[in-house]
Amino acid sequence: MSDPKFSPGDRVWKTGIYSGPGEIVAMFELDTDVWRYVVAHKIEGGSGVFLHIYSAGQLIPECDQCGGSGFDTPGTGYGNVCGKCGGQRYA
Ligand SMILES: [Zn+2]
Repeated sequence: MSDPKFSPGDRVWKTGIYSGPGEIVAMFELDTDVWRYVVAHKIEGGSGVFLHIYSAGQLIPECDQCGGSGFDTPGTGYGNVCGKCGGQRYA
């Protein structure tokens, strides 16, 4: 049984065509070692949050330094250097 990749309070970016920042508010194990994450998104100019469920593959950790999704580019993100601000990811 594997541990979840994210935990409540983690700031993440949803990647893909529709992308944006959010915060993990809950997670659950759909099946053995198959985790799903409930992410709260805020809409700019709106009020409250909406919740969406994602797999780990759709989420990346937010950059500690610029708050962006700079870790989604191969060769940058996977080297722990933010592709957006050039900052080193904190361990
Ligand atoms: Zn950054």
